Amino acid sequence: MSTLIRNGLLCFEDRVEPADLLVRDEAIAEIAPHVTADADEIIDAAGAFVLPGMIDIHTHLADRIGNYDLADDYLSGTRVAVQNGITTVATFITETTDHPLEDAVACALRRAENNCYADHWWHLTPIRYDDAGWEAVERLIAHGFRTWKFYTTYRQAGLYCDYDRLEWILSKLSGRGIRVLLHCEDDDVLASVHLTDDTWQKPLAHALSRPPQAEVIAVREVLRRAERYDVALHIVHVSLPDSLELIADARASVQVTCETCPQYLFLDQTSLQREDGHRWICSPPLRSLYARRALAEMALNGAVDLFATDHCAFTRADKDRCRGHIPDVPNGIAGIGALPHLVYALFAQHRPEPLTEMARYLAANPARLLGTYPRKGVLAQGSDADFSICRAMTDGGPVRSSLADVHETYPGETSRLWFERVFVRGREVVRQNTLLHPEERRGKSVWPT
Ligand SMILES: [Zn+2]
Repeated sequence: MSTLIRNGLLCFEDRVEPADLLVRDEAIAEIAPHVTADADEIIDAAGAFVLPGMIDIHTHLADRIGNYDLADDYLSGTRVAVQNGITTVATFITETTDHPLEDAVACALRRAENNCYADHWWHLTPIRYDDAGWEAVERLIAHGFRTWKFYTTYRQAGLYCDYDRLEWILSKLSGRGIRVLLHCEDDDVLASVHLTDDTWQKPLAHALSRPPQAEVIAVREVLRRAERYDVALHIVHVSLPDSLELIADARASVQVTCETCPQYLFLDQTSLQREDGHRWICSPPLRSLYARRALAEMALNGAVDLFATDHCAFTRADKDRCRGHIPDVPNGIAGIGALPHLVYALFAQHRPEPLTEMARYLAANPARLLGTYPRKGVLAQGSDADFSICRAMTDGGPVRSSLADVHETYPGETSRLWFERVFVRGREVVRQNTLLHPEERRGKSVWPT
């Protein structure tokens, strides 16, 4: 099967270039000003952009967090992804006390098989550090799992990894091509905050209970601890300009990358001050308007390596149930479907070629971080034929972060990119925002290359 995309504006990190793109089977066979080869199907993309398949490296799907099942499973989460040009989704597998990590991995892979519209990648989190626990980690590394996530907080959930333990982990992983993802909030700072019962009735309490210094102190400490080891760190969901400054300063001595998320660029604590502010409870919490603006300014100027969502959606019913007692409201918001539109909006205001920025921050850099570039993340001969054909509009419909029954995270934001067609490994899966073959669930695990 071959498909020829004629006359599209191909989006690369450094330029937009008119060219033809030939797909043969699952890969890009040729890119040239004028491809002469014949093809089974020819698509005229005149006036449209051809954007490499985007990657959301931070999503939570098909999991149970605390007392709640997530609203999105692999099917619905990857569906909203492909409908918005995201062709690879990375998600988490976390060990629990009654589900050892290798069991959890086997279970997640089984559930994802033939159940995803996008390709998928896995980040793993162990919680046992005795000999048997670490032997399981070693077997999983040998199996090909290259990205591991740890938390400097969440003691009650059993995820807490203190700095000494983190350093021990870094020493074990040093020099082995592993990337360590870190959720940075200092647990001692969080534990030191005490709020009154009255305060806890209001959504803003969530932000007060997770103050900025918790993130900044944790970022500083993990960067300091990482200096001695040959391990790549990736700081997830950075929400503060001060954290970005620490990361910028550390880049000379630590292999460190970071992401921020649309919620820290497009939302702030005024959302938490609304009557229905519990809808926006996520961790780290939404920050001040000042922090949000400064973060956006820095992100526009290259201080983050990529954008990801931390999509962690709960149903309206679950989110609303405990709204009068904020500690019981599940932490997390939806975002996958909004990501491309919001990143486009961010750059379109300030940069002449927002699509090149998307090619960099939503495709190439995420693929590099996962170790799967240039197979993923770029339009190039031999790469997987993951891409979308999209158009920039003057205005559009509302963004939709999730297709599940969840509160919309970005009410009022509109989409100004229209995804006409989306291809995953050479197969057109979406046309005009509609899934073409709902019964075809071709997404498969991507492994480092
Ligand atoms: Zn997360």
